[in-house]
Amino acid sequence: MTILSLGAGVQSSTLALMASYQELPVPDAAIFADTGWEPKAVYAWLDWLESYLAFPVYRVSRANIHKDLLARKNATDQRFASIPAYTWNGGMSRRQCTREYKIEPIIRKIRELGGGPKAPVEMWIGISQDEIRRMKPNRVKWIINRWPLIERRMNRQDCLRWMREYGFPEPAKSSCIGCPFHDNGYWRRLKERSPKEFAEAVEVDKAIRDIPGFDYEQYLHRSLIPLDEVDLRSEEDMGQGDMFDNECEGVCGMMCRTGLAPSDVLRLIDQTIGHALAQSEQEAK
Ligand code: SF4
Repeated sequence: MTILSLGAGVQSSTLALMASYQELPVPDAAIFADTGWEPKAVYAWLDWLESYLAFPVYRVSRANIHKDLLARKNATDQRFASIPAYTWNGGMSRRQCTREYKIEPIIRKIRELGGGPKAPVEMWIGISQDEIRRMKPNRVKWIINRWPLIERRMNRQDCLRWMREYGFPEPAKSSCIGCPFHDNGYWRRLKERSPKEFAEAVEVDKAIRDIPGFDYEQYLHRSLIPLDEVDLRSEEDMGQGDMFDNECEGVCGMMCRTGLAPSDVLRLIDQTIGHALAQSEQEAK
């Protein structure tokens, strides 16, 4: 079984559409892990994708991260939903949200669809060549990650070019509205273009300040300033880059967090390209 992890951002949408245009084999299904707090534009794009694709798209959700953050609990009604918020001691809180709100619901759905130790699954991840640092093997032994964009040596710009050539618009960035990885450019655009969603992030920023059991105050913005008081000039003005590697493609991606040595990343690339070559040889026979 082949599953596409669909974040509904640029890269995974390109994979989904390439499969629909027979530029890739058609996966058995795509799975979108819904934290309940994506921008409206992402849900609108996903609605359209669902109606357009030639294979099923399953939306899975364990809980609504926005509501949980405001209620100071997590997806299992226990402790606080731990997002990678900035802490007063100069660090970041441990990120558990990706596993709880995205990875676990996706694995549960794959099991429901028949995947398991006796039925290994190939999982396509929408990581492009410019995000190579995010490649890592799946922690679940019977799920084999594969990166078709890297096999085709496509970067984000190539994906956008492909989308344009086929007449598709650029999808919105897929991630939780209040994810602390956002840079000033994202926050500024959100404030200007979607004040209601920005207000939700401000509300969460206030709610996480003083969580029982946490030693330090937490903030959504890296400056440790309340979000509604931050100077959101361009990231270039502020000398900041985006910590998020463009997309939260089904499994939130962050720069330099593969935990792999460069040699292991190269080995993974060799493996994935080897896989692609073997497949094209087979197709040629
Ligand atoms: S987008 Fe950010 S807040 Fe949302 S699950 Fe991913 S890391 Fe956590």
